[in-house]
Amino acid sequence: MSQPQAVTVLGATGSIGVSTLDVLARHPERYRVHALTAHRSRETLLEQCRAHAPALAVLDREADAAWLRERLSAAGLATEVRCGPEALVEVSEAAEVEVVMAAIVGAAGLLPTLAAVRAGKRVLLANKEALVMSGSLFMDAVDRHGATLLPIDSEHNAIYQCLPVEHRGGLSRHGVTQLLLTASGGPFRGWSAEALAGVTPEQACAHPNWSMGRKISVDSATLMNKGLELIEACWLFDARPSQIQVVVHPQSVIHSMAAYADGSVLAQLGNPDMRTPIAYGLSWPQRIDAGVEALDLFQIARLDFEPADEAAFPCLRLAREAMEDGGTAPAVLNAANEVAVEAFLDGRLGFAEIGELVARVREACPVAPATELEGILAADARARREAQARLERR
Ligand code: NAD
Ligand code: MG
Repeated sequence: MSQPQAVTVLGATGSIGVSTLDVLARHPERYRVHALTAHRSRETLLEQCRAHAPALAVLDREADAAWLRERLSAAGLATEVRCGPEALVEVSEAAEVEVVMAAIVGAAGLLPTLAAVRAGKRVLLANKEALVMSGSLFMDAVDRHGATLLPIDSEHNAIYQCLPVEHRGGLSRHGVTQLLLTASGGPFRGWSAEALAGVTPEQACAHPNWSMGRKISVDSATLMNKGLELIEACWLFDARPSQIQVVVHPQSVIHSMAAYADGSVLAQLGNPDMRTPIAYGLSWPQRIDAGVEALDLFQIARLDFEPADEAAFPCLRLAREAMEDGGTAPAVLNAANEVAVEAFLDGRLGFAEIGELVARVREACPVAPATELEGILAADARARREAQARLERR
């Protein structure tokens, strides 16, 4: 039997990270954990080190790393602890690593995810913000370095499953006419603009179907998540924004679809549990047990579909426009949104003002080509400054 594959989990303590470790632990003969990383959650990382005995653990600050080192050595564990962004890159590109789960939230995940791509790893992409920011640069690096990129976002994982294995080079070459990106509609589906104005962080983070980190929960509630996913789908599948239709499907059972020229529509269905796409990404082209219950269609009974309300949820339109503008526009959109969501979660910005702030920052930041990492990071930094300045002026 072959050796277990070494896996690095970036963002191990988050919602996707925890689900990834759950799947890995079901298959010790196939996978071993090489490195686990977290930002601040040292207690959770300590528990994960006890359970999975990685060779390396990474935290952001040296003080937290020292704390973890002490606990690990007291427990007789050999895990080495490092800190800082360089350590994230190291555990992503290390020669012994075969698989990298990119599950850091936000722009902070870009450099380690890109490092894994450039080292030719199998990259499981949950960190959609990294691809939204760096689109063509990222996909070029996948091709140039022979990385295997598997989308973990449930919609993109579903589309991947509905497309031919060789699907690069434009959808029409493969007879695909449209990608149907499903959306739950978030917790405020059907709400009026007036009602949305008073939404609190607690309400926004209580998603009806999925349990997720706070940032993506807010993005799901504003539909910015669907907008980021539209951009993500354009890059992953060589699609134009006009080839992607957003379909609100409140049950979240169909995870997305591909429509073909002959009238066929292929869909991937399953219970809303991220362990399914994670297991798919880990084992592709094989299939392994994900610990997910079989879908009970009689219990679901019905599947509903409706268009998205872009008047009440402007973030979807803003994202589509950013993709159409191209260059650094998606990076600017993403950075402004990250600042706005943080301000909303801290009670400094109203729910309906998230989209307004993103729109103002987009107007203020000129679009430049996004062919170099430097330019992308500069656009990200400028957009954050613009957003902060506008927040402070209010
Ligand atoms: P989360 O907030 O639960 O976890 C984020 C992880 O990243 C944590 O381990 C945290 O310690 C780490 N982290 C945060 N900031 C960091 C920083 N500055 N530097 C280094 N590490 C940092 O988030 P999540 O819900 O697990 O989402 C992770 C990513 O996956 C996001 O990009 C999200 O959009 C995407 N995603 C999540 C889901 C889901 O169901 N949760 C579904 C699809 C896509
Ligand atoms: Mg998704």
